[in-house]
Amino acid sequence: MDHFNYRNGELFAEDVPVAEIAAQVGTPFYCYSTATLERHFRLFDEALEGMPHLVCYAMKAASNQAILKTLSALGAGMDVVSGGEYARAISAGVPGEKIVFSGIGKTRDEMRIALAGGIRQFNVESEPEMVALNDVAVEMGKVAPITVRVNPDVDAKTHAKIATGKSENKFGIPISRAREVYAEAATMPGLQVIGIDVHIGSQLTELEPFRLAYQKVAELTETLRADGHDIQRLDLGGGLGIPYTRSNEAPPLPTEYGSLIKETLGHLGCEIEIEPGRLVAGNAGIMVSEVIYVKSGEGRNFLILDGAMNDLIRPAMYDAHHDIIPVIEPTAGAEQTPYDIVGPVCESGDTFAKQRMMPPVKAGDLLVFRSAGAYGAVMSSEYNTRPLIPEVLVHEHQFAVIRQRPTFDEMINRDTIPEWL
Ligand SMILES: *Cc1c(COP(=O)(O)O)cnc(C)c1O
Repeated sequence: MDHFNYRNGELFAEDVPVAEIAAQVGTPFYCYSTATLERHFRLFDEALEGMPHLVCYAMKAASNQAILKTLSALGAGMDVVSGGEYARAISAGVPGEKIVFSGIGKTRDEMRIALAGGIRQFNVESEPEMVALNDVAVEMGKVAPITVRVNPDVDAKTHAKIATGKSENKFGIPISRAREVYAEAATMPGLQVIGIDVHIGSQLTELEPFRLAYQKVAELTETLRADGHDIQRLDLGGGLGIPYTRSNEAPPLPTEYGSLIKETLGHLGCEIEIEPGRLVAGNAGIMVSEVIYVKSGEGRNFLILDGAMNDLIRPAMYDAHHDIIPVIEPTAGAEQTPYDIVGPVCESGDTFAKQRMMPPVKAGDLLVFRSAGAYGAVMSSEYNTRPLIPEVLVHEHQFAVIRQRPTFDEMINRDTIPEWL
């Protein structure tokens, strides 16, 4: 469910006409709905009611300060995967004790920053990382709370580029080696083992892989406790998928996911953390773009937009589908024709959709990419020296630009010329 709906024949973001934002901000741009962000966060929070828990939003999905503040105000923690994200979370006012640090390549500098500023836990992904974190903590006279991310060797049944829980993936330590690694961690004075972490992938559309992984985590919890480790916290990762089309996909609901967690892990008395990203932000955002040209090709017609793969890379990178709808509601029974919908970037991969059935469209029309809130703006680049597109946040009848479009000069002036030129 989201808050982008047609009213009186045109698309609104909450109580604001999308066309009005376009007129003021210019296209292309991202637009987020506060109500949808809040709703999705609360769904997770409520799904875990009755268990001690913290929902740590995986901010790599959409990390604008205004989004972080919106979620943090509801009590969200954050899952960060870099020193930059840690700094962003702190700067948005998220307390260190609500920040968990994930990722396979944490540098010693990043560890120092997080230990100095406060951290809920590090999710450690390898033995060399464990050794490094112990060194850094001892050097600083601190003790780092850790979980170890285990790789449960479960097929998440999602796109290969976002599956992370199979033994061939680079993430975590093999669950079969967990006892050994935990025993080693327990000997390190700079580390305090507090729990277990698992994250098997993204855009999961079935509960079964989660069930398999969480059952393995439950068994491991009992084994590690029997070995003498104080396992108090289970970080279950993110990954719950969203419907990218309104027609045929119906991924499990957060309530069903919550019930599964209670069923598989409820008896252990652990504090539960989850790290949803996509489900919080995905359907809370759209990308709005204008049709520059309608071009007839041989045997196919193209809609050429002012948005491109550098603004929204998911179709090029993951073969992802986004529903694309006009801002002006098509009349009922309007004739549909197939178009290839493309951006202006000089790559054939700059194609958002092939042979997509569309109602009548002409140059100057505004089109909306639905479900673009997660892994959209954060993955954008300035390829082709196209400015990063603005982000806008809507709250009821108000909207604000939460990231400005840079000017050409701002982009160019980031380069510096060496003295010999
Ligand atoms: C990306 C990621 C998430 C969020 O995944 P979603 O599919 O966006 O929910 C959570 N935890 C970790 C460790 C991640 O890398």
